[in-house]
Amino acid sequence: MSSINSVMVFIQQDDGKVADVSVELLSKARDLADQLNVTVTGALMGSGMKEAAEKLIPYGVDEIFVIDDKRLADYTPIPYTKIMIEVIKKTKPQIALYGATTTGRDLGPRVASNLKVGLTADCTSLQIGDYTSRGVDYSNILYQIRPAFGGNIVATIVSPEKKPQMATVREGVMKVGIPNPDYKGEITPFTVDLVDTDFPSTVIKKVKADKLVDLKGSQIIVAGGVGVGSKANFDLILKLAHTLGGEVGASRAAVDAGFVSKEHQVGQTGTTVRPKLYVACGISGSIQHRAGMDESARIIAINTDHEAPIFQIAHYGIVGDLNDVIPKFIKAFRAKD
Ligand SMILES: Cc1cc2nc3c(=O)[nH]c(=O)nc-3n(C[C@H](O)[C@H](O)[C@H](O)COP(=O)(O)OP(=O)(O)OC[C@H]3O[C@@H](n4cnc5c(N)ncnc54)[C@H](O)[C@@H]3O)c2cc1C
Repeated sequence: MSSINSVMVFIQQDDGKVADVSVELLSKARDLADQLNVTVTGALMGSGMKEAAEKLIPYGVDEIFVIDDKRLADYTPIPYTKIMIEVIKKTKPQIALYGATTTGRDLGPRVASNLKVGLTADCTSLQIGDYTSRGVDYSNILYQIRPAFGGNIVATIVSPEKKPQMATVREGVMKVGIPNPDYKGEITPFTVDLVDTDFPSTVIKKVKADKLVDLKGSQIIVAGGVGVGSKANFDLILKLAHTLGGEVGASRAAVDAGFVSKEHQVGQTGTTVRPKLYVACGISGSIQHRAGMDESARIIAINTDHEAPIFQIAHYGIVGDLNDVIPKFIKAFRAKD
């Protein structure tokens, strides 16, 4: 199959490690490409990335264009944009996807404005479908789906007239596929004529803040909302999370109230999570909160209001005061050992 018309993913690497969101996007690209009967391609820029590229083929990737240059080890906008434009012009994908990371949010618009194609930012879902506009029928185009107007509606955006149709996609929303070690794909070195003036900026030093909260990587999350009542009482949530060996999450309202820091926020403007167990304590279950956790494998909700929307998606619901329920929960869990 040809790479022309492919579904392409910009494969982001940071310090030589492929970003999780790129693996998520390659998996989604495979789904979309199967519906369109085309290939999945990737564009990977960096230094010494061939081995990392090979590890991505099992996700159903047919061809990865690797642009290897020591000067590309760190993302800088000018050369990365130049390369992405060249890769797209030469290989003509019909769809190009970027993670909605700092890098993807910088690169995607630069490429879009240069190629004069559309770009939808921060998508939470991608689908293939048909569309008719001013008497013209477009088939098999990309539905770029994202929350809009403060999360109160879900907008489906299309840009059918020009290719590639481009989108940045939020981290954590697309499921990683099961790798198939027998999948056959190619690593193709791709050369772009890069001159010194393409590198007007250089990364001198990187200072990374320690990541103290790992919501995405946690299989158990205990989250607290406004119903917890106070910052001091948030200790109950910490205790339950600690007992279950999980991470602490929170609603935005709990973060805004100062109960806990922003890194703990789950939801549309926080982190999207998909743990094995999500315990929602004193959280009403607004649409914006649910957008970030409703695909959790098991949801337990503790709430005094039996009509709270969180109960609509909870697998187990406990109507009660979290100040009574959580200590009993901890005691029962400890007693089982
Ligand atoms: C653009 C936009 C983006 C947003 N993004 C996010 C986001 O990413 N994440 C997010 O969470 N929100 C987000 N929000 C906010 C969202 O709309 C809600 O305001 C928020 O989720 C509500 O948080 P909450 O459930 O903690 O509070 P509330 O809605 O006030 O609910 C508190 C719940 O606690 C229960 N309760 C009270 N006391 C107790 C008790 N003692 N024991 C047990 N239960 C009790 C109550 O019955 C109630 O159901 C966003 C809003 C907008 C407009």
